[in-house]
Amino acid sequence: MSSRKDTFTAQSSSPSSSSARTLPPGTILGPDGKPCKICTTFRDWKPPTAGKTTTTTTRRGNKSDGDSAAQAIASSSTVTAALAASSSTAGEGADIAWRAAHCPPDVESLGRATWTFLHTTAAYYPEAPSPTQRAHMLQLLHALPQLYPCSHCADDLGARMQRRPPDVRSRAALAAWLCTTHNEVNAELGKPTFDCGRVDERWRDGPRDGSCD
Ligand SMILES: Cc1cc2nc3c(=O)[nH]c(=O)nc-3n(C[C@H](O)[C@H](O)[C@H](O)COP(=O)(O)OP(=O)(O)OC[C@H]3O[C@@H](n4cnc5c(N)ncnc54)[C@H](O)[C@@H]3O)c2cc1C
Repeated sequence: MSSRKDTFTAQSSSPSSSSARTLPPGTILGPDGKPCKICTTFRDWKPPTAGKTTTTTTRRGNKSDGDSAAQAIASSSTVTAALAASSSTAGEGADIAWRAAHCPPDVESLGRATWTFLHTTAAYYPEAPSPTQRAHMLQLLHALPQLYPCSHCADDLGARMQRRPPDVRSRAALAAWLCTTHNEVNAELGKPTFDCGRVDERWRDGPRDGSCD
């Protein structure tokens, strides 16, 4: 299956679009046809006027100028390490780490935060929700395709929810629905499938060995 991301990359834009021709590969276009920063990863977002070397040097300068707390968070974060490891050069990895600590989110950090919020909210949803609680959960979920800032992610989620509507009858049902939905997105992005039998361990109870207690 080709991903929504592929559909919207600058690479696949019409060759008649002069702005698309100059965009770096991987830049995602928004509904207005312009580059969409919140839809694109830090790796793929390259400001057209900023030279790569200059940008990296400037950010390193800023880091050593004293924002040590943010720097420590960035350098100790698993996510940042993964981002850095997936980058082609050490300089690019450092630049992405800097962005993760200081810049508005990219599509990946927004996604991580959103999944964390959604899975955690599902993990603490009542076993036997009242009609009002069910209605609130449905409102929350149905608001996402309208409000989620990454437009192609929002459209994609809306289509999924039409095909397979949220199941808010119980905590277990909601957690399972969300896990399946997340796995559909994982598959589309070429990420591994998560074992939904371990969703409580991941998002509520922690591992049996107590390492998160
Ligand atoms: C609604 C939505 C739609 C999105 N659509 C797109 C898109 O179209 N294109 C795009 O590039 N990005 C999209 N994203 C972002 C993308 O899903 C990831 O969040 C991002 O790529 C970062 O991935 P990650 O590997 O850090 O882990 P994430 O996928 O963010 O997952 C975070 C953590 O959740 C756990 N996890 C993974 N899968 C599951 C699961 N099935 N159930 C329970 N827990 C799980 C893992 O422990 C993982 O580390 C979307 C995000 C959301 C919330």
